[in-house]
Amino acid sequence: MIFIMKQSATEPQIEAITATLKKYGLGVHLSKGTEATIIGVIGDKSKLLAHVTPELLPGVERCVPIAQSYKLASRTLHPEGKPALVGGFTIGGKELAIMAGPCAVESEEQIFETAKAVNASGAQFLRGGAYKPRTSPYAFQGMEDEGFKLLRAAADAHGLRVVSEVIAETQLDTAAQYCDMFQIGARNMQNFRLLKAVGRSGVPVLLKRGIASTIDEWLDAAEYILAEGNENVILCERGIRTFETATRNTLDIGAVAVARERSSLPIIIDPSHAAGKVAYVEPLALAGVAAGANGVIVEVHPNPKEAMSDAAQQLTFAQFDVLVKKMEKVHSALA
Ligand code: PEP
Ligand code: MN
Repeated sequence: MIFIMKQSATEPQIEAITATLKKYGLGVHLSKGTEATIIGVIGDKSKLLAHVTPELLPGVERCVPIAQSYKLASRTLHPEGKPALVGGFTIGGKELAIMAGPCAVESEEQIFETAKAVNASGAQFLRGGAYKPRTSPYAFQGMEDEGFKLLRAAADAHGLRVVSEVIAETQLDTAAQYCDMFQIGARNMQNFRLLKAVGRSGVPVLLKRGIASTIDEWLDAAEYILAEGNENVILCERGIRTFETATRNTLDIGAVAVARERSSLPIIIDPSHAAGKVAYVEPLALAGVAAGANGVIVEVHPNPKEAMSDAAQQLTFAQFDVLVKKMEKVHSALA
């Protein structure tokens, strides 16, 4: 439930309502927009409703129930959207967020070369897996903490921010020393203990949509992170599993529109894991931007053929450069 306050509501009235809600054991989430102040009520409201008629509280214009199970992630609570701040960059603001880098960090030379190239093309974030959750236990599992260190050094050398996947609660303290944003991979979208832990970490989180998850399940997963007090959550649509096998996954472009309607969280597109093949990366990325995505995360490698993972879908530096120029054109056409 949210309380929409009257334009004339005073600070003492807002504080009195907050105190009342806390008295009944409810969580309070204050959102001060340009139009109105909204107080989000989080938790079991039955005791409150048994004793208080919320509409009659001084300063309240009206009460609106939030129909969905997710509250903090809902559009109702933040009608104007809720941009995320990551390393000084606003995702969900005017500028398109561009994250690029290899599937996996493989060597110092590889990641430094990539950081230089993607920065020159206009990316603000360097991506790269240090811990790789691979389908087969025999496949390359990543450089682990050494990978984080190389990512950080390469990003710092070229003025970029680091986004990298975390896969376990126990690694978060170390990972936080090197990453500006944690990525929760598709396979871990419903690893609820991990979601709570990244929520508590306070580090911004890029939450990939699960391979077979509905949009509402994905937003419930985001709610786990937000409910721990972490304000900076970004959704990432990376394709879902369907009957179609021509692409690696089916990029759900409709999910961009639906997530934007239901949720205030910024949303980005991962065309690489959806496409699975270089030839489809550009059209999917452009479609995502055209649909209103706030950014993209794209796999780029100095020598894709030699990549230790996801070789078929990684762009060369030249291909990435062309893609950025086209995405910027689409983005500015919509502005
Ligand atoms: C990745 O970004 O390299 C990755 C493993 O992505 P996903 O979790 O979407 O498969
Ligand atoms: Mn990959």
